[in-house]
This record gives sequence, C-alpha cells and structure tokens, in this order.
Amino acid sequence: MAIRERPVVIAHRGASGYLPEHSFAAKAMAYAMGADFLEQDLHMTRDGEIVVIHDTWLDELTDVRTRFPGRAREDGRFLVLDFTLAELRSLRMTERFEMRDGRPVQVYPGRFPTGTADFRIQTFAEELELVAGLNHATGGRTGIYPEIKVPWLHRREGLDLATAMLTVLRDHGYRRREDPVYVQCFDPMEVIRVRTELMPALGIDLRVVQLIGEPEWEETWVETPDGGWHPYDDGWLQEPGALARVAEVADGIGPQVPMVIRTDPVTGRPTPTHLVAEAHALGMEVHPYTLRADALPAGFTSLDALHAALFRVADVDGVFSDFPDRTIAWLRAEGRRPG
Ligand code: CA
Repeated sequence: MAIRERPVVIAHRGASGYLPEHSFAAKAMAYAMGADFLEQDLHMTRDGEIVVIHDTWLDELTDVRTRFPGRAREDGRFLVLDFTLAELRSLRMTERFEMRDGRPVQVYPGRFPTGTADFRIQTFAEELELVAGLNHATGGRTGIYPEIKVPWLHRREGLDLATAMLTVLRDHGYRRREDPVYVQCFDPMEVIRVRTELMPALGIDLRVVQLIGEPEWEETWVETPDGGWHPYDDGWLQEPGALARVAEVADGIGPQVPMVIRTDPVTGRPTPTHLVAEAHALGMEVHPYTLRADALPAGFTSLDALHAALFRVADVDGVFSDFPDRTIAWLRAEGRRPG
C-alpha cells in the first residue's frame, strides 16, 4: 500500500490560468506559488529533440500560420514533429486561441491576452534545468510531472519519445521511486512498456501514472498488420475491476474530474464513482484533471465547491490545477497543508 501523503498540487502546464501554458513564466509563477509538481507535456521535433508543448499541433498556440504558411499537413494543421527545434524556437508562443471565421479568438477570455508579450517554446532538458535551478536557489524540492504525448504518432514517424524522455530524466538525476517525479501517459500499452522494458533497461525506477481519457478522444491508435492505423478503444479503463490490471504497472491514475465525482441529478450532491475507492484499495494514488476556475465541470458553480467535492468527498490524492495558488489556499484553509 502506498503511503498517503498530503494531497499534492500539480500545476497543470504551469500556472496556466495566469500565463500562457508551458511558458517559462508560467512555470516560474507556479513554482513561486508553491505547487508540488510542475507538469510538462512532451512532443519530439523533426530532429529528435524533446519540447514542452501540449498540443500535437502548433496552430492554436503559436504564430506558425503566418511564419510557415506552406508547412501545413493536408488537414491544414501544423504538426510539432514536422518542425526542427530551431524552427520551433523561432515561433512566438501565446495564450491558447481558436480560429473562428478566420480570426483568432482566445479560448479563456479572462486569461493572459493572446498575441501579447513574447513567449517561446523550450526543451524538456531546459525545463528540468529551470526546476533544478529554482530548487537550488530556494532550497525547495518541487517535482516534475512529464507526460509522454501520443507515443503511437511518434512511433509512426520513426521517433521513440518514451525512451528519449526517460534518458533525459536519468541524466538529470531522476532515477528512483523516491525522486520527485511522476511519469504519465494515456496509452496503456506504453505504460506497460515504460514499466516493464524501458525503465529496467535504463536502470531507473520512477513512479508512473496511467491517465484515463474518454474513448472518443482517440488518444491512442494502434497499427494493424497491413500497416494501417486505427483508434484503440481504451474504454475498459473506466470499467469496474479494470484497475487491477493497471495497478500491475502503475502507481496511480489520472482520470478526468467527472470520472471520479458527479453531481447526483436527484439530490444535487457531489457523488463519487467507484474509481477512487478501487484505486485506493489497490494502493494507487488518484490525481484527477483539470481544475479550471473559468471552465468548471457540469454541476459546480465555483472552484472551491469543486475543491470540497474532490478533497472532502472523493478523497483524491492530488489534482491538476490551472490555478495552483487557489487550490493551495483552499487546502491551507482546510488544514491539509501547512500555512
Ligand atoms: Ca498533460
């Protein structure tokens, strides 16, 4: 049975409620707010470097459309892994937007204004140096929470993100289960590979979290014998009893908030699903995503109501929060964190 520590606060893509996600500024702000872990979403570049960016595409986070207009794929989108690191570094990264009627519209209007200031994409190694530097300068021990994004897509392009990521982690001193790091991935086959093949081969043993998404997101695809690719149905992860298989390779799960707690349509009360109890019975931690004050799940009218439901009712072990300061403040007021 894993030791239940205080609930951990994971800064989701940094303090992304206040600064563009995955910018160094957003990471430094989350660090200063006292987050326990800073999250990194990872993709590889065409020349085999690892960069920190959430989307598989560049077009809703950067100015790639105007900088490299001829480099879109057939669907009109710009894949991270079609660009070299030098090209990616030349882009301006910005607050998330969507194109509507040919114009960029900010997804979260109350956040940092899209298209202003100057933010850049950085490598995974540079981000580890940022965290190590801050830990050195402050005497802190803030952790990291890197995600292997779309391993199947990287494999299709001849790239092995998981091996590259684990090698960088090892070379930066992340080697043992006690080290402040969780490795996360949606792809259950990749989680098995990380645990049973890659980490033993590299001589490291880190905590691993199986993310759980909705099947219609089509997070994971598999190759058929004829060389075609089709979506893998990961809906079994949400079935009662499924976590026994996950617990063989993972230390925790990362489900979406509505997978762990729902508002009962009759009583109006937040009601836990089977997931947390089942995970705890197997000795696994539960870190749901994502807490957003400006995009609350159905049935919740405030971020603190969501905090109360997740920490008091569902009894989760940590959360991914876009507003780590507000999650920390709630836990302090609740006496679940030192002041
Ligand atoms: Ca993520």
